[in-house]
Parts: sequence; C-alpha cells; structure tokens
Amino acid sequence: MSESVQVVGGGLVGALSSIFLAKHGHTVSLFERRPDMRRASISAGRSINLAVTARGLKALEEVGLREAVMKIAIPMKGRMLHDIEGNMTFVPYGQKAHEVIYSVSRGELNKLLLTKAEAYPNVTIRFDQRCTAYDAKTRTLSFHDEQQGKDHQLVAPRVLGTDGSASVLRHALSLHATGFGQTEDMLDYGYKELVIPATATGGFAMEKEALHIWPRKNYMLIALPNMDGSFTVTLFYPHKGAESFETLTTPEAVQAFFAQQFPDALKLMPDLTAVFFGNPTGAMVTVKSFPWHIGDQLMLLGDASHAIVPFFGQGMNSGFEDCSALGTLLSTHTDDWQQLFSQLEADRKPNADAIADLALENFVEMRDTVADAKFQLKKQIGFALEARYPGRFIPRYAMVVFHPEISYARAQALGVEQDRILSELAADITDVAQLNWEHAEQLMEGYSGAKAA
Ligand SMILES: Cc1cc2nc3c(=O)[nH]c(=O)nc-3n(C[C@H](O)[C@H](O)[C@H](O)COP(=O)(O)OP(=O)(O)OC[C@H]3O[C@@H](n4cnc5c(N)ncnc54)[C@H](O)[C@@H]3O)c2cc1C
Repeated sequence: MSESVQVVGGGLVGALSSIFLAKHGHTVSLFERRPDMRRASISAGRSINLAVTARGLKALEEVGLREAVMKIAIPMKGRMLHDIEGNMTFVPYGQKAHEVIYSVSRGELNKLLLTKAEAYPNVTIRFDQRCTAYDAKTRTLSFHDEQQGKDHQLVAPRVLGTDGSASVLRHALSLHATGFGQTEDMLDYGYKELVIPATATGGFAMEKEALHIWPRKNYMLIALPNMDGSFTVTLFYPHKGAESFETLTTPEAVQAFFAQQFPDALKLMPDLTAVFFGNPTGAMVTVKSFPWHIGDQLMLLGDASHAIVPFFGQGMNSGFEDCSALGTLLSTHTDDWQQLFSQLEADRKPNADAIADLALENFVEMRDTVADAKFQLKKQIGFALEARYPGRFIPRYAMVVFHPEISYARAQALGVEQDRILSELAADITDVAQLNWEHAEQLMEGYSGAKAA
C-alpha cells in the first residue's frame, strides 16, 4: 500500500533512502536544513571527498546509479605510504583487479542522489527547512524555514530520521522510547582539510590511483584524489597536548611542523598556511544508540543512529547498506511498518556496532602499524592464504570493503580468528616465501571460514 513518508535530512543517506521509498511507490517529502546545493554554492559539509566501496556501490546499483557514480569516481588500488624522507611504498588493498576503492566528491554524489530522487513524481524536496523538534505523542514535526525565518508544523505519520550525527530525531526518540540508551564518544583527535592543487598542466602531482598516507605513529596525513587533478589532504591530529592542534596556532608553527614531518607533501602545498587557517578543525564522534525506532512512526538511519570515525571509510557505505536493507524489507513488508522498522533495526544494529569498533581499530593501523614490517608481512601472508584457500580465507580488510555478502559483524568475528593465525605464522619468519604451509594447513583446519551471514 502506498504511504506518505517524511524524510528529515537530505544528505547522502536521506537522499538514497528517499529513492528506495519512491521506487516502492511511496510518497516522499524530504526536508533538508541547507539550501539546494545544486543551486547555491555551499560546502557539502565534512569531508570534501570520500571513499565509496562495494557495500555503497551495491546500494547505488539497486537504484540504477552505479554507472553515474563511476563516472565521477577515481579508483584507488592501495595505500601509498610516505615515510619521513619522502620514500614511498605501495601496499595494495587486494589482489584481484576489482579490489579497489573509489574516491568521490561528497557534494557531487549528494547532488546526483537528490536529482535522482527528485526525478520521481512522488518525491518532493524542501530545502532550507531545519527540523527543530518531533513530538512522538502527536506525531508532529516542527520546522524553522531558514529563508523566511518562520516556524511551521506538520503532522507526520511516518518519519525517517536521516539528519546526521547530531540528530534532532534521535533526541526526540530518546525522550519517548523506554529504555533508550546512547553513547556519544568524541575522538581526542580532530581533522583539518588541506589541498594539493593540480599541476600547472592540470595533472596529478602524485600517483593518482592511490590513497596516500603519511603515518607518523600518533597522527597522520592522508590524501585522496579529485577529478580536477587536485588531492584533498586531511591531517588527523590530537586536539590537545604537546603535539596537537593547540600548538599549531601560527603560520610559522604550521610551516615548521609540515617541513619536519611531511616535507614531500609540503613541497606540493603552496598555499598551506592560508588553507590551514581558512578551514575549520573538524571533530569526530562515535554514536551508538538503541532503539532506532518508535513503533511504526519513526526510524533513524545512517549517522543519525550510528555515526562512526572515518578510518575504515565505511560511514556512508554502512548508511547506504541501511538503505539497501530498507529496500529489501519494503518489498516484503508491504503494510506492516512496525514490523519493517523492527526487522531493519535487528538486521542493522549488530553490524553498525561492529563497523564502529573496526573503524576505531583501523585508526591505529593507518597511523602506526601500517608502516611496520611485521604488519606488511602479515598482509602478504593473508594474501597467500586467500590464494591457497579461495572463498574460505578472505582477509579482514577485503571482507569489510569488498564483500557485502559478509556482514560487518561476521567480518569482525572472523578478523579476530585471522589475526591469531597470521600472528602465529608470521612469528618467526621475515618473508612470505618462508611461510610454513604445513603449519598454515593445521591452523586453517580450525578456522571458521568466510561463509556469508
Ligand atoms: C572526515 C570524514 C571523512 C569521511 N570519509 C568517509 C569515507 O571515506 N567513506 C565513508 O563511507 N564515509 C566517510 N565518512 C562518513 C560519512 O561522511 C557519513 O557516514 C555520512 O555522511 C552519513 O550520511 P548521513 O546522510 O547519515 O548524514 P549526513 O551526511 O550528516 O547528512 C545529514 C543531512 O541532514 C541535514 N540535517 C541535519 N540536521 C538537520 C535538521 N535538524 N533538519 C533538517 N536537516 C538536517 C544535514 O544538512 C545533512 O544534509 C567520513 C566522515 C568524515 C567526518
């Protein structure tokens, strides 16, 4: 039965979930706080570009957008590690041709999704509408019209809350749902976006098809390519302390820090200090909340219910997986929204928790262990096991990033087993050629294997 659904938040997840709802014949009203980014020149918010991977691409494919996204995406085949002397080591993400991740502009992706949603006659998008409250008892949404400076209300029988990590809808849910619980853990680190411009001839100043990392143990710099030949560079650095954003308060201090820690990157950043002081320092938060829904009337999706830190590049991808799961349930639960919301929450919550933890762990890997010889050896042993036991041993990174048929929760559990196996096999060798296959065979006998779950 066709229903009327109000979606609050027209970011990546709100726009994609509106498409899934419209595809199933529902009438969607999408409310977005900001002006229409296709007309006004506004920042897309947060990171300028992001990594889209198999889980996100699967959801995009389901709504016929994969090809359009591929046209604005740059493949990244692995990590290019930059040491302090400027030497580079390339560490591939996978060993199969399709095992790449893609750098895409957040703004362009969001615009594509909004345009696709709006192409449905049953979708209306209203911009400049900031949701200020939701009264669960009367099912009423309150908005402030940012253009006209006026408040208005709307009775909304069925609401999707996709208003991001500081969600107003999550707050409303917390006031109403019995037993509601949440944690909001701010990371001690902030981030600052910078830029390596395109060369004078419009080319890329570094290897284009890689995610560049300057791991420096306690902190790191990363860079992702953009379609115009530039790289968006992000410094992840502690908020406070002797080595922190607190100490980078003058152009001289910033210049000296980069000269000491990232000399090769500095050479490619002519406007470093102007950009550094022109851009805000962002914060990162892990939100775990439960429940995600109230009966048949309100459901939270994406960062609104499960914001995570960006170190596995999975925040949006997991939000898109929420949308895909919504699409599947819309086909089977045609009338029963209470059941649909319960099922969606039950399917997604364990996976949201798993990727939240994996993302935190991956920060340590990216800024520190990735530069370790033992870590790289374990990666190679993982690849060797994958080649020897195809389908049975899939390295954890690959399960998370390239295998949407394996849930995040299962990938997390298998990852723990894998780490034990890889640590044991790497313990007394220095090169993958020395791998003791008999020992590997024994360890693999006890391994649960990567079956879909
Ligand atoms: C530095 C950084 C890098 C990242 N890199 C990656 C990556 O590489 N890969 C990846 O998968 N993920 C990445 N992420 C995570 C990703 O950005 C988020 O998971 C994703 O944006 C979540 O989408 P969303 O639509 O749920 O929320 P948001 O993108 O936050 O969108 C929320 C929308 O709701 C609107 N809104 C907010 N409040 C209201 C209100 N009260 N009323 C009306 N509208 C409202 C906002 O304007 C916005 O449009 C990164 C995050 C950060 C911070």
